[in-house]
Amino acid sequence: MDASTHSSPAYEPLALYIDGEFIHAGERPEQDVINPATGAAFARLPHATQEDLDRALAAASRAFQTWRATSPLERSAILRRVGALIRERAVSIARNITLDQGKPLAEALQEVTTCAEHAEWHAEECRRIYGRVIPPRSESVRQWVVREPIGVCAAFSPWNFPFNQALRKAVSALGAGCTLILKGPEDSPSAVVALARIFHDAGLPPGCLNVVWGQPAQISSYLIQSPIVRKISFTGSTAVGKTLASMAGAHMKRMTMELGGHSPVLVFDDADVEAAARFLARTKTRNAGQVCMAPSRFFVQEKAYQRFVDAFASAYGSLRVGDGLAQDTEMGPLAHGRRVESMQALVVDATARGGAVVCGGERLGSGGFFFAPTVVTGLPDDARLMTEEPFGPVVPVTRFKTTDEVLARANALPYGLASFVFTNSLATANHVSNRLEAGMVSINHFGLALAETPLGGVKDSGMGSEGGAETFDGYLVTKFISQASAIP
Ligand code: NAD
Repeated sequence: MDASTHSSPAYEPLALYIDGEFIHAGERPEQDVINPATGAAFARLPHATQEDLDRALAAASRAFQTWRATSPLERSAILRRVGALIRERAVSIARNITLDQGKPLAEALQEVTTCAEHAEWHAEECRRIYGRVIPPRSESVRQWVVREPIGVCAAFSPWNFPFNQALRKAVSALGAGCTLILKGPEDSPSAVVALARIFHDAGLPPGCLNVVWGQPAQISSYLIQSPIVRKISFTGSTAVGKTLASMAGAHMKRMTMELGGHSPVLVFDDADVEAAARFLARTKTRNAGQVCMAPSRFFVQEKAYQRFVDAFASAYGSLRVGDGLAQDTEMGPLAHGRRVESMQALVVDATARGGAVVCGGERLGSGGFFFAPTVVTGLPDDARLMTEEPFGPVVPVTRFKTTDEVLARANALPYGLASFVFTNSLATANHVSNRLEAGMVSINHFGLALAETPLGGVKDSGMGSEGGAETFDGYLVTKFISQASAIP
């Protein structure tokens, strides 16, 4: 499919969304939106001016005074309508995600429809933001704890799951009674504009959700330093997360940080080795490996090692890579040119460190941002591919002997997001799930990121959780109230 087909009128008209209004470019600066399957620009995204940011801050602040007092039933009803509209519009939103982000259409559709579940989960949970009564020391005293929305939030969502990551932040903040200024991913913007339209059409009052675009560093520093913003939420790289966290810390602002990972995969001799290899090849294919919790450092026990490498490389190396809109595509392009350069640098380093490229290892074609599914073996643990989050389709596979050894190696990095274990031994599964330093452990399958389960990391992979019963914790403050029936 060529770029002219991609610029068909169905693509989302890109806009800012402030105080209930969609605002088009006018005199504002704009940037190109590029189709990663072709490398061609096909749309323009307006950037917010400082006046736009000030307007968004004022609108969010004003809206908070009403939204915080809106009954949970009403908030819940709006989130339910959001869920219904997501299902209705999923096909066109998904197509636009494939155009500006690259993932295959079926994956984009799955990303969007799953979000209906997130909206519905938050619609249910927001009716259960309970406080508690504390037994008093005197009969004339009543004392209780309430949890209140923290206030105006600023959220920064990434390009890898442009709809899902933005939606999760929006439903957590809004469900808790907060208002939100959201800066979406400039590389893949259509999903966030579509999301704003859904909230608008679901009846969310003006100012509760605002969407802005621009230079990420400028927008984040302006919003984080504003006294109006009380909390920030960021999903992206650990390096950027630390910069934003230090800024938030300087202003004593609450934060949720969902950052990078380099998820260890432990395949034990007693696992169903070929099935694990085929399953991991499918899992790693998703979004061309651009998934924060993708399996990414493979440790395979000695006896299983060669069988695993053969089966994994055979399944992974034979994937059909192509334009995400083509029906038979199994893996799309990387989201932008910077990712291709990163993959090339990782492979160059791996080869220099004595790694053997079992399959792939190079860019495919010259137009889009395609990179071959790549498997590298024989790397030392301090090679870049073993220590830096690859965030792409390059997989290092190494061997291990004992459980203690593999736990030490898996836990050696500063990251602690997801981890994966393949074993048929209950004892091994119990032991390693206790000892892995990770926010999430998935055993014999990929059971993560569901609406009802918490998603979050430890160590340099972040703080706080999104989803599950924990989902509103980061958006609420605790207030203790003590009341006597008469002055003593
Ligand atoms: P990047 O660090 O330049 O950008 C990552 C994301 O952060 C982008 O969405 C970008 O708009 C945003 N960002 C960058 N600087 C920012 C700032 N100062 N303020 C606010 N937002 C800012 O890297 P990239 O090449 O676009 O992505 C690659 C890296 O990003 C990967 O290595 C991965 O670690 C990370 N990433 C992680 C996730 C995740 O789900 N945790 C998602 C996307 C990207």
